[in-house]
Amino acid sequence: MRKPIIAGNWKMHNTIEEGIKLVREIKSVADNTDVEVVVCVPFTSLSEIKKELQGTKVKLGAQNMHWEEKGAYTGEISPVMLKEIGVDYVIIGHSERRQYFNETDETVNKKVISALKYGIKPIICVGETLEQREKNIEKDVVSKQIIKALENVSAEDMLNVVIAYEPIWAIGTGKTASSKDANDMISFIRETIRGKYGVDISEEVRIQYGGSVKPHNVTELMNESDIDGALVGGASLKAEDFINIVNF
Ligand code: PEP
Repeated sequence: MRKPIIAGNWKMHNTIEEGIKLVREIKSVADNTDVEVVVCVPFTSLSEIKKELQGTKVKLGAQNMHWEEKGAYTGEISPVMLKEIGVDYVIIGHSERRQYFNETDETVNKKVISALKYGIKPIICVGETLEQREKNIEKDVVSKQIIKALENVSAEDMLNVVIAYEPIWAIGTGKTASSKDANDMISFIRETIRGKYGVDISEEVRIQYGGSVKPHNVTELMNESDIDGALVGGASLKAEDFINIVNF
C-alpha cells in the first residue's frame, strides 16, 4: 500500500510572518490522517517554518536547489544548506522553473541525483503543454522527462523519489485534467518505471497529480487507482482549503 502524499507548493508567496501564521493553522492536520503532509516553502522561511513544525507530523520541503554542494554560483542554494535546516523534500523541475529559469531534463537529473545523495527526497515534476497534448505527443514528452530525470538513479534510491504529474495547462488555470486522464498518464508513468526498475519498485513509487487541485475535486482524483497524492499550488495558501484537501 502506498502512503498518500499531499504537498503544498507555496511558490513565491508568504513572508516569514505570513508563513508562520499559515503553518500554525494547518500543523495539526497531519495528526489524524494516514496522508503524509508536506509544505514546500520559500528558502527564506525554511528555518522558521522548521521550528514551527517541531513536534508535528508535517514535513518540510524546498522548491528548488542547486546540484553542487558549494561553489561560485551566486544566488543558488545547495543541498548541504537544505540538509542543515532539516528539509525532507525538494521539488525538482517544476514547470515554472523549466519555463522561466531554463531548467532542462539534464539539470533536473543532476538535481535529483544530488538531492538523493544528501538524503533529501525529490518530488520530480513532469508534464506536457496544451500544444503537446493537442498533438497527441503527451506520453512521448512525459516518458522522455521521466527517463532522463531518473538516469543513474539506483533502485534503492527510487523508493525515496516522488513523481508529480502536472500537465502545464492545468497549473494555476483552474483547469484540471479529468481524473481519468490524470490516472491514465500516471499509470503510464508507473509502467515506464516498471520497465526500468521492475514491478515491485514501480508499485511502491508514489506519483502525485498536480494542476488546480481544490477541495471540490480532490476526492475524485484520489479515488483513482494510481494517483497517490497531490501537489497543490494556489489552494495550499488558504488554511481551510489545504486542510480540506488533506482530509479528502
Ligand atoms: C503547482 O504549483 O504545482 C500547482 C499545481 O499549482 P495550482 O494548484 O495552483 O494549479
